[in-house]
Amino acid sequence: MSTPVVELAGVHKSFGALHVLRGIDLTAEAGTVTVILGPSGSGKSTLLRTINHLEKVDRGRVRVDGELIGYRRSGNRLYELSERQILRQRSRIGFVFQNFNLFPHLTALENVAEAPIAALRRPRAQTYERARELLARVGLADRAGAYPRQLSGGQQQRVAIARALALEPRLILFDEPTSALDPELVAEVLDVLRELARSGTTMIVVTHEIGFAREAADTVIFMDEGRIVEQGPPARVLDDPRHLRTRAFLSRVR
Ligand code: ADP
Ligand code: MG
Repeated sequence: MSTPVVELAGVHKSFGALHVLRGIDLTAEAGTVTVILGPSGSGKSTLLRTINHLEKVDRGRVRVDGELIGYRRSGNRLYELSERQILRQRSRIGFVFQNFNLFPHLTALENVAEAPIAALRRPRAQTYERARELLARVGLADRAGAYPRQLSGGQQQRVAIARALALEPRLILFDEPTSALDPELVAEVLDVLRELARSGTTMIVVTHEIGFAREAADTVIFMDEGRIVEQGPPARVLDDPRHLRTRAFLSRVR
């Protein structure tokens, strides 16, 4: 089998006395969608943040495309990478947050084009042309000149997705991308996620949208108290959960 895009092995993370990740093993193959479910506080965001080294792990390994994240090995010792090398690794991993995190003083188009120009030093004209294509892909061709405050939450989140795509990432991490949206705006963002899934983007999505998990996920993971309690194809985990905690959680969110 080819090298997985993401591989976590035995990952532990604590904040002081709080042991948040308690031995996470996770593999995501190229072109797959992994949906992570679990109650608030179970460690889902922390797990995503270890993948791009926004959180350093205390124990275990994180690899993207086989490359160790955050560290280099020399003999049997690990050395943390320089800030610059970490930024280079991070630029290959898209991250879409609950609260969009757009630059308020930049237009939609500038938000999408800014990262490749600043981080990857891509040529301006070409990057702006590509940014227009990406805005069209998320259904916002006509809003390129709008500032974030002039856009709905659903539109802002679609700009954030286009911005993530602009860096041509190996994978995109989504942390509750629809949780901050008014209910009527959720569908337009999930439609974009579905289109990305169909086109073969490798994605790890933390969400409570069970319908999306059912249709779009290759693997559904249920997390509780820092552990993966169960994982498998959506029909298995969602319709025939083996663990009481998964059943209890699903009965609450459905
Ligand atoms: P989830 O995304 O599943 O709701 P999180 O990964 O955000 O869970 O948080 C898991 C636990 O870790 C929570 O108890 C949270 O308060 C705690 N936590 C997260 N980040 C930090 C931090 N930077 N410092 C201290 N505690 C944190
Ligand atoms: Mg979270």
